[in-house]
Amino acid sequence: MFDTVLIANRGEIALRIQRACRAMGLKTVAIHSEADRDARYVALADQALCIGPAPASRTYLNAAAILLAAEVSGAQAIHPGYGFLSESAAFAEQIARAGLTFIGPPADCIRTMGDKVAAKRAMRAAGVPCVPGPDSALPDDPAEVRAIAREIGYPVIIKAAGGGGGRGMRIVREARELDDTLALTRAEASQAFKNPAVYIEKFLEKPRHIEIQVLCDAHDNHLWLGDRDCSMQRRNQKVVEEAPAPGIDRALVERVGASCVEACRRIGYRGAGTFEFLYEDGEFFFIEMNTRVQVEHPVTEMTTGIDIVKEQIRIAQGDPLPMKQNDIVRRGHAVELRINAEDPNSFAPSPGTVTRWDVPGGIGIRIDSHIAAGASVPRHYDSLIGKLIAHGATRDEALARARVALSELRTDGIRTNVPLHQAILADPAFCEGGYDIHHLEHWMHARAARA
Ligand code: ADP
Repeated sequence: MFDTVLIANRGEIALRIQRACRAMGLKTVAIHSEADRDARYVALADQALCIGPAPASRTYLNAAAILLAAEVSGAQAIHPGYGFLSESAAFAEQIARAGLTFIGPPADCIRTMGDKVAAKRAMRAAGVPCVPGPDSALPDDPAEVRAIAREIGYPVIIKAAGGGGGRGMRIVREARELDDTLALTRAEASQAFKNPAVYIEKFLEKPRHIEIQVLCDAHDNHLWLGDRDCSMQRRNQKVVEEAPAPGIDRALVERVGASCVEACRRIGYRGAGTFEFLYEDGEFFFIEMNTRVQVEHPVTEMTTGIDIVKEQIRIAQGDPLPMKQNDIVRRGHAVELRINAEDPNSFAPSPGTVTRWDVPGGIGIRIDSHIAAGASVPRHYDSLIGKLIAHGATRDEALARARVALSELRTDGIRTNVPLHQAILADPAFCEGGYDIHHLEHWMHARAARA
């Protein structure tokens, strides 16, 4: 049991976690960099500790400083949020060694899922559908690799087992490109991810990105909460997410959800997690698992009524989940728009001081943001300044509410991607639903060509 939680993150997710803690009667400790000193959630926390200068390497990625802050503040548990140290098995272990509670899965689950080859092997063993290709690292002999690629059939993709953030993968369209691309990816894997292992799989040309949210406690309850469609992406970064994924056979989603739950049971998973899939021609293909809360978790919360962050904390306290799979009812449709401080055309970051921040409201609207008028958006971190989530009984109703809400959102002092969201909400393909992960980039190219 614990009564004080240190939040090892910043921005909107730091506020989101703080809200969950406060609603549960837990005290909160905010750690922050000098650049985040004046943030709203820092002022709202029971205790705030500045742990270093602006660069994340000195603060939000500095495990030693965070552990020291926990000791000084008397916090007994640490919530890592997303990004930063949230998927570091070593950080989870250090926390346990210090006698504290990590609000996340066991370190060995993080480690298995952080190695994409090990993850794929574990998933296939549990009956989760995976992208065609071996669930082992590629052998050294290029001739053997050529034979494997031939068997899968081109195009293929070579991926670093330790890769992440959209890096460490390359497409190979023809056999003659294979040797060079393999060597390049191997070199990058050793340098960037300190794990030389690479693997190969079929490259899917026009997939959708569909993911399944799970929640597991320490009492053998393994639940899946529903699916999300995150296909609206630019450079592998999600821009809009929604739940449920439109136009996919519900019986198929149920089967995939059940297989995710089975995988969790087999690996002894605990906490919140997400199974990410590519979906093409009526089939799901597992690509990776995220062992943490995700940016887009609110669309699942809005459709299920389950507070995912609260459940993460309760699970870490050793409590059983208060619901069973049959109790989970998904109602209506939710869409989330990521509001970024960036130029809507060039996508260049737009840090600075927010001089005006008028937020929308009304039925079905939720704003998750740490911003207030006068807040500064430091240039040192990613550009997400908030999320606008709209829920409705139907997808059309959710989109209509999102349009109205967006028209009420007023931000001065910095540029935002609100105009991009307005254009997306007016895009017939988006309104129809079922667009693939390349849709946004193709649409932007077409728009640029017309201009
Ligand atoms: P990361 O951990 O870097 O996010 P993922 O394995 O999740 O890596 O892949 C990121 C993105 O790369 C996917 O969302 C998809 O757009 C693309 N991708 C990955 N594997 C494939 C594949 N087999 N075929 C087509 N696209 C892929």
